[in-house]
Amino acid sequence: MMMQAWLDAAVGGVLGLLVGSFLNVVIHRLPRMMYRDWLRDAAGNLAPIPDVPSLWRLVMGPSAPAPQGLETAAAEALAAVDRLEPLTLSRPASRCGQCGTPIRWYQNVPLLSFALLRGRCGSCSQGIGWRYPAVELAAGLLFALCAWRWGLTPPAALWAAFCALLVCQFMIDLDTQLLPDSLNYLLLWLGLLGSALGWTGVPVSSALWGAALGYLSLWSIFHLYRLATGKEGMGYGDFKLLAALGAWFGADFLVAIVLASSLVGAILGGALLLAGRLAHKDIPISFGPFLAGAGLLCLVVGPDTLRASVPFAFPLVALGH
Ligand SMILES: [Zn+2]
Repeated sequence: MMMQAWLDAAVGGVLGLLVGSFLNVVIHRLPRMMYRDWLRDAAGNLAPIPDVPSLWRLVMGPSAPAPQGLETAAAEALAAVDRLEPLTLSRPASRCGQCGTPIRWYQNVPLLSFALLRGRCGSCSQGIGWRYPAVELAAGLLFALCAWRWGLTPPAALWAAFCALLVCQFMIDLDTQLLPDSLNYLLLWLGLLGSALGWTGVPVSSALWGAALGYLSLWSIFHLYRLATGKEGMGYGDFKLLAALGAWFGADFLVAIVLASSLVGAILGGALLLAGRLAHKDIPISFGPFLAGAGLLCLVVGPDTLRASVPFAFPLVALGH
């Protein structure tokens, strides 16, 4: 029995390392694909307008002079974006960020290649960066945990997808302060589906309440905070991410998730402080990585263990709900 669990964990771990290698591609490319789309949309909305100055006056008032050359600049930007080679998650093949040399399959073996190449590109010897093996290792360990806990079963695969999506959101938000909708919604729908299939062990009504209250709680805080201070402390991506986590763990875990996110925030802030990253105070840190980290923490600790060991984080249960 125990032997089987370790075998499953080993299979899960190897799969996780391979998926982690792909997650590095998602983390690097997805924001760039989004930036490209935004630039194309912005330029594409201006370029076909025949008379930008008159449109400008319609919006800004009859005496407002339009900025010079707006439509030419938009057309040039649109043409420049369209000249780029296509960028998707599968194309072009992975290449070195410094010298552009394509990475061969044997240089792309998770962890192993990084160790053999001593963390440097095979052709230009520029450093590859700690984050690539770190993401692979994180995915490997998380997938191994899922396989160990649930065996090689559909629920294990579902929770592995949960881990993969949260690792992506964690890193992408840390890099860009974005939480892509495409990943947030996938996480939300998988959580609701997992509940409906009985794979997450969360009753469907609790998953629905978790999603709705997760969204609305942060939404309310956001608007109250903005009313009181005139500033925006969070983004809509954060509401959607907490909604998704509510769907995966159920409504009674929302307080625990928010508490866990402040714990993750303290740990992450301390780590970045030690690494000297916060020395320049202008590096913005958003709430998304804390939430994503909290979701992973809840999975690793285990919902049942969490409920038993920190009962104060479950006020709804304490009220006999
Ligand atoms: Zn290189």
